[in-house]
Amino acid sequence: MTTTANELSYRIEQKRNINGAFPGPKSQALAERRSAVVAAGVASGVPVYVEDADGGIIRDVDGNSFIDLGSGIAVTSVGASDPAVVAAVQEAAAHFTHTCFMVTPYEGYVAVAEQLNRLTPGDHAKRTVLFNSGAEAVENAVKVARLATGRDAVVAFDHAYHGRTNLTMALTAKAMPYKTNFGPFAPEVYRMPMSYPFREENPEITGAEAAKRAITMIEKQIGGDQVAAIIIEPIQGEGGFIVPAEGFLPALSEWAKEKGIVFIADEVQSGFCRTGEWFAVDHEGVVPDIITMAKGIAGGLPLSAITGRADLLDAVHPGGLGGTYGGNPVACAAALAAIDTMEQHDLNGRARHIEELALGKLRELAAELSAGGGSVVGDIRGRGAMLAIELVQPGSKEPNAELTKAVAAACLKEGVIILTCGTYGNVIRLLPPLVISDELLIDGLEVLAAAIKAHA
Ligand SMILES: *Cc1c(COP(=O)(O)O)cnc(C)c1O
Repeated sequence: MTTTANELSYRIEQKRNINGAFPGPKSQALAERRSAVVAAGVASGVPVYVEDADGGIIRDVDGNSFIDLGSGIAVTSVGASDPAVVAAVQEAAAHFTHTCFMVTPYEGYVAVAEQLNRLTPGDHAKRTVLFNSGAEAVENAVKVARLATGRDAVVAFDHAYHGRTNLTMALTAKAMPYKTNFGPFAPEVYRMPMSYPFREENPEITGAEAAKRAITMIEKQIGGDQVAAIIIEPIQGEGGFIVPAEGFLPALSEWAKEKGIVFIADEVQSGFCRTGEWFAVDHEGVVPDIITMAKGIAGGLPLSAITGRADLLDAVHPGGLGGTYGGNPVACAAALAAIDTMEQHDLNGRARHIEELALGKLRELAAELSAGGGSVVGDIRGRGAMLAIELVQPGSKEPNAELTKAVAAACLKEGVIILTCGTYGNVIRLLPPLVISDELLIDGLEVLAAAIKAHA
């Protein structure tokens, strides 16, 4: 057991350690078994198989330990085996694993709804529904918006990612690998230009002007009174950790309110302390009509939710919303424990601390690289523990996907798991567990900096 200053304790040693070449023999044997039985369409970014994970470390079946800067895609913010989550899961499972909330309900579901209504932005009357995945939450947010408004059109944005089901594929922007050959897609989805400060043709464009650009297009191409919902990730995830210019989200949400359009914030990736606030919209005081949540919500167990205005959610007829497993009792127990851990250990504060620490390191690296002329670091951005480096061809904005891939591969060789993202595949994204120790984070960032320097 080791302990950091803010009293987080760990079960396994928080140190990266590569035992010779990897993948080792046990991972290789598992890869062989896998290829005979698991569909090729499911890809894994890292070729090792996990045996244990805790805090900021993932240990594989051959005894290698990796620094986890991905949290299973922003899921294990409280760590992959938070003691409070583990205990709550064991306790809940020992009583009942499932009854179906639509058949015989239980307290855990109600308690999670109470917590989400408390934590989400705004002090209006709210209602919550629980599901299993982020995509399912998004689907249901759109169902509610269409029913409540009696309108069909849904507006999404360039670089958006909302999931892999049919409607959410339609909402998602990127063709490969998410959409190509999987159509036809759901109708009445319209795509508008995002505010993407680094790639704006006019770098001076303000958030309000970028919102105006989208609003004018909506008015001309659809008509504001035809739109059921605007759905947006307040910080885009898979699309490249794009933080819209200040003022963009408030202007959009204000206009949506005027037109009776349901403003849906998809906080599946950015929610639950990830950005240093409970939700990314909190940074600009935006209050969405409906908010979608998943990933970080339940310490690794599958759970998702929509929380929104009571008048919208309660417009749906009884039986209109649900699902066999939605709000599974074990997942609810995990969520309550994870939320408790977030509050007990002030993980919003941890996320802000990680931002300060990591941005300092990344800016040092950027300064060092640009001292020699055109740098491969095009942009450094993000909030809290949701940070990114956009890599470019030196001295231009031309995306550098090859370098991005090479850097992630080099980090992995050194025992650091790094995820990439972006429409152009040229963004390194950092999503460390919020409970990672400073020492481990610094070690991981130094490996990353060295890899970028070596390959630049
Ligand atoms: C991951 C993600 C989804 C989809 O969540 P799943 O649980 O994979 O279905 C939806 N929206 C955003 C913003 C995401 O990051």
